[in-house]
Amino acid sequence: MWRETTKHERNKKLFEEEIAEFLPARILDFHVHILNAGVIPGGSTFSCAGHPIDQYELKDLEQDLAELYPGRETAAVCFGFPEVAYDRDSNNAYLAGACDHWRFFPFRLFDPMEDTTERLRKELMEGRFLGIKPYPDYVRKADINAVEIPEMLPERAMEVVNELGLIVMLHIPRKGRLADELNQRQLVELCTKYPNAKIVMAHVGRAYFLKNAVGHLDKLRELTNLYVDLAMLNHWEVLEYLFLHFLHNRIVYGTDIPIGLAPGKSVEINDQYTYVTPVPWALSISDDHRKLVFTSFLYEELRAIKKAVARLGLPRSFVEDIFWNNGMALLHKAAPK
Ligand SMILES: [Zn+2]
Repeated sequence: MWRETTKHERNKKLFEEEIAEFLPARILDFHVHILNAGVIPGGSTFSCAGHPIDQYELKDLEQDLAELYPGRETAAVCFGFPEVAYDRDSNNAYLAGACDHWRFFPFRLFDPMEDTTERLRKELMEGRFLGIKPYPDYVRKADINAVEIPEMLPERAMEVVNELGLIVMLHIPRKGRLADELNQRQLVELCTKYPNAKIVMAHVGRAYFLKNAVGHLDKLRELTNLYVDLAMLNHWEVLEYLFLHFLHNRIVYGTDIPIGLAPGKSVEINDQYTYVTPVPWALSISDDHRKLVFTSFLYEELRAIKKAVARLGLPRSFVEDIFWNNGMALLHKAAPK
């Protein structure tokens, strides 16, 4: 079993010794991918940090949430897997039907090449989606690093999102990530032109190493409709910087489950980052010599959050807010009135 939860004795020990006391009673994960059976073309699989899966449904999530956070009340924001070759319609329809809007909240995958404005509006309303999930790959450029935010989120789509007051779960493009000047400019334009939309920068704008965050988060803090999620952030220095320089009520916990369940850690090396995993993965350096015993990215993230909170002496209310209240308030703002 590759999923690193308290089902493994060593994780149970880690949870009890390092995490249990820190973790609040209620946990909302704002960044979860769900993949119903049949979405991936027959015979192929998705690599969860080196572990192939062909589905990850809500029942799997329910089981993992119970085993990750024993005794806690849990909830999640759920969207599909943004892969061009996958069956996006089936993935969206599954989430619209399966999410109860009480514990599980659906976002809709958005494809700028194939979604017409009419269809987007109709499905967002009928499926009671609270947000959209665009992705650089949907722009279908030969060079993925050449994709720009307005290509992922064309005006016609943003007008619908703005009108309905929905959330955008944004994986920012380009090699420079959060530090990229064009990204910075286009984020300001996006947030100011569509003030009724709520923009969540996934993975703190993908700033997984400190230099990418320093001096770049600060400029964005005045945007009142810009949020960040913490998914896959394993780096306490980045988190400490974020907690010092960004508005606290616009930070939400997220994990990138099911990827976050896999064994591994993201590490900074010489102003860059990589993942280290026990098994080979396209995005990682792997432990070919079997030197290490790993826990999940998710527990590494919790360790890093805990360390940053402790170093800054942040109050209990801060922890309860990022793990639940901030995200729930954001979902409430996006819910149809
Ligand atoms: Zn993700």
